[in-house]
Formats: sequence, C-alpha cells, structure tokens
Amino acid sequence: MENTNVVYDILIVGGGPGGLSAALYAGRSEMKTLLLEEAFLGGQIATAHSVENYPGSIENPSGPKLIERMEQQVQHFGAEIVYDQAQKIEKNGDVFSVQGMSKKIYQAKTLIVGLGASPRTLGIPGEDEFRGMGVSYCATCDGAFFKNKVVAAIGGGDTALQESAFLTKFASKVYLIHRRDEFRGAKSLVSQAEKNPRIEILLDTVPLRVLGDSTVKGLEIQNKATGETRILEDVQGVFMFVGNNPNTALIKNFVDVDAQGYVLANADMSTKTPGLFAIGDMIQKPLRQAVTAAADGAIAAISAEHYIAGLE
Ligand code: NAP
Repeated sequence: MENTNVVYDILIVGGGPGGLSAALYAGRSEMKTLLLEEAFLGGQIATAHSVENYPGSIENPSGPKLIERMEQQVQHFGAEIVYDQAQKIEKNGDVFSVQGMSKKIYQAKTLIVGLGASPRTLGIPGEDEFRGMGVSYCATCDGAFFKNKVVAAIGGGDTALQESAFLTKFASKVYLIHRRDEFRGAKSLVSQAEKNPRIEILLDTVPLRVLGDSTVKGLEIQNKATGETRILEDVQGVFMFVGNNPNTALIKNFVDVDAQGYVLANADMSTKTPGLFAIGDMIQKPLRQAVTAAADGAIAAISAEHYIAGLE
C-alpha cells in the first residue's frame, strides 16, 4: 500500500458530468481537490452521439466533446484528475481513505461520490451468449456494425427512443419493441420515432429469446395482448435499452438506499455519513440527466466546503 501523504479537502469519485462539475466548483473555491476516475471521463454520456438538451450545447456536441470541455474547465481551476479505480472506502475519525486498484491510498476530509448507473440486462435466453456478437447496450459504440441490416431495440424510455432513431442512420430497419402500449419517454422523441420510416414500433410486446449461431440470427417475441409468439427472422442485432442499475457497491456501508437501490441524498447532497456526499444518476431523484448531475456536483462541492469549515 502506498499512501499519497496528502489529505485532500475534497476527493471526488467518478468522472461523469456530476463529478466534473463538483471538481470545477471545488477547484474554483480553492479547495485541494482530487477527482478519481477508473476508466474514461464522462460516464454514460460519453457514449451519446449528440447532446441536444444540455443548456448552451446548441450545436449538439457529441458526449465526448462536451466532456472534453468540462475537463478543460476543471483543469483551468486546478483540480487534479487521477485515473485509478476506487476499490474500498474507510473512514477513520474525520478522514476518509480510498484505496485504489493501483494500491495507492487517497485521503480526504470529504468525499463526493458519483458513480452513475450501468445498463440493465434483460436476462432472456441468448442475451449473454450473443453479447458482443449482436447483442449490445450502446448504439453509439456498435450501431455502425449494422449497416443495411435489421436490428431490434428493446425499451420504451428516452434511451430506447433516441437510440432507435440514431440506429436508423445505419440499419435498414429498426424494430422498436416495448412491453406496454404507451412509451415512458418524452413525447417529442415518441413522435420522432413514429414518423421515422425505418422504425417499426411493436407495442405490448416482449422479447423472449435471442436466436443465432455464432452471431444473432433472429429474435423471438410475444404479443402480450394476444399471447401470440413469432420470430423476427431478419434481426441481426438486438439493442437493450431497459434502464439502469445504480453503481452503489463501493459506498453501500455508508449510505441508505431506496427500494430500487438508489442512494438517499439530502437537498445538499449529504448522506447519512457526515462528510460523504452522493450525486448524479446513483441517487434517488426525479430526473436523471447530465444537467441535473452537474447541478448535484455543484451543490455537493459547496456543501463539502461548508462541512470542512465546520470541522475547523
Ligand atoms: P428508463 O427511463 O428507466 O426506461 C427503461 C425502459 O425499459 C422502460 O420503458 C421500461 O418499460 C423498459 N423495461 C424495463 N425493464 C424491462 C423488461 N424487463 N422488459 C422489457 N422492458 C423493460 O431508462 P432509460 O430510457 O435508459 O432512461 C434513463 C434515464 O436517462 C431517464 O431518466 C431518462 O429520462 C434519461 N435519458 C434522457 C435522455 C434525453 O433527455 N435525451 C436520453 C436518454 C436517457 P416500462 O416503461 O414499462 O417501465
């Protein structure tokens, strides 16, 4: 184990829009700040092909472009960014210690944790078997593999609607399959999908089984209203957009969660552990967007600053 021998004021775990915003505010407040990110900055928005609803992002930058700008702003205000995976958290007295995969120990007076959420799996036969061989959870990553092919997109939320439209840039046809008779996602996205000649919407329908040999060669579906099952034999790709699970394992001993596993954070982003703040998609909230994560990060940074002032 190597202790970095620095006690940061604010240690941010997770480099999505929430963590980056916290780093910006903390750095700008001249708090000694470190942001730990395990892989790449941006979290889920780093897989978005365009972001049209982040205020000011009028020219619809890609997710990575928007994140690159946030990173530049963070660096401008002096927060450090280190790539290491946080594996364990301890609190001794008023000091948090975070052990990284590198075996380094990072210490801080406060922790701001924004580890986001990961795409949910459906759990149907064939899903695991064909993962990466036609089953995908990311249209931006894998859509281009399906040029002039037929794919299915599963889900009825914003992601399913938005990504189905994106997939039509490549695929000759997208079956958009949703289990209920109305979509959960935004009305504007629903009408976009309805107008898209390459999207065939199948409501009240669930996927039963992904078929194939070495790659996907069909999808068995069932109409829930009639009970009828059939195989979509032309499907060569299946994109699952059925929501997310919050990544709370690292802090489960320090926070309370709701029935869905989302962290309970107060309006100032504090949790039941003094000095530990939770932000972004991992917390219970009515709207999970880059802009709300960024707002959480800003609030958490200022709350952490007030908390530290109270310690002194
Ligand atoms: P979501 O809103 O949780 O929607 C998940 C969808 O998957 C729902 O339609 C749900 O059906 C369906 N589903 C869940 N489990 C299923 C199962 N076992 N079998 C079949 N269908 C299943 O997730 P999301 O669309 O990924 O969105 C996550 C968050 O990001 C949301 O807050 C969303 O607003 C936000 N987001 C925003 C944008 C944007 O503003 N442009 C883009 C993407 C995401 P039911 O509807 O029946 O529950």
